[in-house]
Amino acid sequence: MASEITYAEVKFQNTSTAAVVKVPPETKKHERHPQKYPPWLPWLISLLLLLVCIALVTVLLEEGWTCCPKGWKRFQGSCYYLSGDAMSWAASEQNCTGMGSHLVVINSKAEQDFLSKEVKKPSRGENHYIGLSAQDMGQWHWVDQTPFNVSAAFWREGEPSNPDHEKCVVIHRTSGALNNWNHVQCNSHNRICEAAAVIV
Ligand code: CA
Repeated sequence: MASEITYAEVKFQNTSTAAVVKVPPETKKHERHPQKYPPWLPWLISLLLLLVCIALVTVLLEEGWTCCPKGWKRFQGSCYYLSGDAMSWAASEQNCTGMGSHLVVINSKAEQDFLSKEVKKPSRGENHYIGLSAQDMGQWHWVDQTPFNVSAAFWREGEPSNPDHEKCVVIHRTSGALNNWNHVQCNSHNRICEAAAVIV
């Protein structure tokens, strides 16, 4: 008697399982039937979306989604700090280093032009140290070891002149629009620090 009851229960479970398994294939046939778009369309849409994303990222990078600390000026890939106070050239370089930067290294005419215009603004001091100095007269070198290029130097008229004790270089505010470098004593002037702008 006990074995007959067990057989009846197993049969009932098999029947219900079979009923569940049969349903999905019929449903799938109905879903596949009305295919209104070509199979490659999803791929095309994905590709287009990817291209749009790449274009957006490229534009943002080229436009310079960069930022500078408050009070610093941005130009191309750099940030510039023009000080309101004056100190020696060595202390100026130390001060810039302490802010994660260095005394400005002028690499191009565009950079020189930008800085000249900044220095000439009414609120600025007269002379601003740049990162160019000489241990021996005529042996000019940049603080970041960029080779000194005579053809990309912006000396004011008559400079560099001879005094042996003037081994540091400033942008001179009242000199020409572009050619305004003057070599001076290293004792006390304003300064321009330069740091790489941060890409956000
Ligand atoms: Ca530079």
